[in-house]
Amino acid sequence: MAEPVFLSADIPVGPSSLRLMPEEHRAGLDPYMAQIITNRKSGLSLNHIIGCPLDCGYCVRHFWGNFEQKVPQLLISTSEAVEMLLGHEAFRPHSTPIQLFNKATDPMLPGVKPHTFAVLQELDRRGMTNLVLIITRFHVTAEDMAELEALQHVRVTLLFTYSGISEDRIEPIAKSSTTVRSIQTAAAHSERTKVILYWRPIVPGWNDDPETMASVLNLADSAQVDAVVFTGYYHQEENAEWLRGLGVEVPYGENYQRRKVLPAELDTRVVQAWKDSGISPFHCSVRPRVVSPTPTRYPTTTATGVFPNSATSAPPNSDSSVPTITAPRANKNSATSWPIWAMTPRHRS
Ligand code: SF4
Repeated sequence: MAEPVFLSADIPVGPSSLRLMPEEHRAGLDPYMAQIITNRKSGLSLNHIIGCPLDCGYCVRHFWGNFEQKVPQLLISTSEAVEMLLGHEAFRPHSTPIQLFNKATDPMLPGVKPHTFAVLQELDRRGMTNLVLIITRFHVTAEDMAELEALQHVRVTLLFTYSGISEDRIEPIAKSSTTVRSIQTAAAHSERTKVILYWRPIVPGWNDDPETMASVLNLADSAQVDAVVFTGYYHQEENAEWLRGLGVEVPYGENYQRRKVLPAELDTRVVQAWKDSGISPFHCSVRPRVVSPTPTRYPTTTATGVFPNSATSAPPNSDSSVPTITAPRANKNSATSWPIWAMTPRHRS
């Protein structure tokens, strides 16, 4: 395989150290962007860094007027952020799942990564065994994996956003092999860290042809990730207008939704592609449940599907809307396996 093309060659990746956002800029932020800790569908989300240079056309920052902030900046220091998280009324040691930098930046960008590791190491130093989800599409090295593997307590799952989209107006990172190489590297160097291929967004006309689907599944298989999670595109006016302005055809018309959209027919084809691939010999018992919040022209599911590379199980007394899977790989140390929380909507009909 060709050497990875690192984005710094033609796409800015931001500074290697971050500045604190000036107070006057902070005061002008959308309230959601300014919020450092948020209650999410399956845990607490910590986002004290906002701004991203990766320019994904569908980025949710379009919704809150932050897409033009290309340079990540700190809202508060990382030590203050950790204190804020641990002191949050909804935080429970060893229990509350945490999502780190999942709103407005990529946690593995050069300037953000030291803060990602600083949060993890501080939680670990305090003996916290909480699950921490880190969603990235950026460069992850063997050295990064060694740092993650060195954690003793905190349980990290790396989710790699990878869509198979080749159109770089939609995803500028598509013109590099950065995410593919990162998935391979992470999976090859993980024992206690879980590695998930987060197959999203799957969108009609963008990446739903059989060849693209097969290539994504082949990547998951060849890299031996712990699981594949899939979902659709968050179709709102702001990002749709941006994409259409770039000349990208956006499906779903004016049928904007406040959740990610995945037509039921496409959901079925994704599952069929997975079955046809023969990747996992196990039956997945946490199949995405089809949800149709309102009858629409495009039947949708807002669920996120999960293909584990191992047996699945629902935890006792769990919220049935949140499937949990255990996914130890055969060649991994099963003593360090733990449930992985799939990111599924809390509210279902
Ligand atoms: S990596 Fe995430 S935050 Fe950055 S532009 Fe892409 S979608 Fe937005």
